[in-house]
Amino acid sequence: MMTYDSHTHSAYSFDSAGGYSVDDMCRAAISKGITHLAITDHYDINAVLEGLYTAPDIEKLKEEIEAAKKKYRDRLVVSFGIELGSAIQYKKEALSFLEKYEFETVLASVHYMRGHDDFYNWDMKSLNTQSLENMWLLYLKDLEETVEFGRSDVLCHLTYPIRYVRLAGKELDISFSDDILERILKKVIKAQMLLEVNTSGYYQGLGEPLPDSHILGIYRDCGGRLISLGSDAHIPRNIGASYANAARYLKKCGFSEVHFIKNKEIYKQKIQTENL
Ligand SMILES: [Zn+2]
Ligand SMILES: [Zn+2]
Repeated sequence: MMTYDSHTHSAYSFDSAGGYSVDDMCRAAISKGITHLAITDHYDINAVLEGLYTAPDIEKLKEEIEAAKKKYRDRLVVSFGIELGSAIQYKKEALSFLEKYEFETVLASVHYMRGHDDFYNWDMKSLNTQSLENMWLLYLKDLEETVEFGRSDVLCHLTYPIRYVRLAGKELDISFSDDILERILKKVIKAQMLLEVNTSGYYQGLGEPLPDSHILGIYRDCGGRLISLGSDAHIPRNIGASYANAARYLKKCGFSEVHFIKNKEIYKQKIQTENL
């Protein structure tokens, strides 16, 4: 059983579905056997500064998380986290934001590239293979800069744009970029960042996590072992979703442990696939 969920969203995320409170998420986590939960609401620096969505009230979020920590202290480790997007577009602002709130788990994500909308809103159907390949290379460039910028604990949902390519009924073979991926993953390892395996791919109909075995294989071959596991749940029901599938998948990819990071401390747990 894997009992860490390092990537979840509460009502403080702009795209919250149903407005579930931190307490709702904690209760659901406990009922599903989760022992370590990070609440990592969205904060895409560009979106907040450019008015694409309203910034969450981090002070209030922190209060709710502190209350949950006390209430569930015997049953659940709760981490005050954030999913920080587009840090490289506003480095100075990102640094002061992180300094101000002292988050315990910082996920780094790339939802937006400079001058572009969230990949979620791209019309992938209209793009030909050449355009999709160009998009992928630009994404990798931002991703590499994000890793170099540092200040985060986990690189989350690598292959995020591919999710929308596939949901649009298209495929993109990314093997042409393996040398770049290898270079980025080596930087992830050197920076002692965790690499997230995001199980939302299962419940969103992709049949596998993000990233998939191809990228996980490169990471493992480079010596990477620090897998962080996250459901990216926006509703209680999805906390810890598809963990049995993910456990088998990770084992097949050659990993034996998953990890949870809080205040730079890394917790480890063996992946067990018996009885699944
Ligand atoms: Zn995300
Ligand atoms: Zn997320």
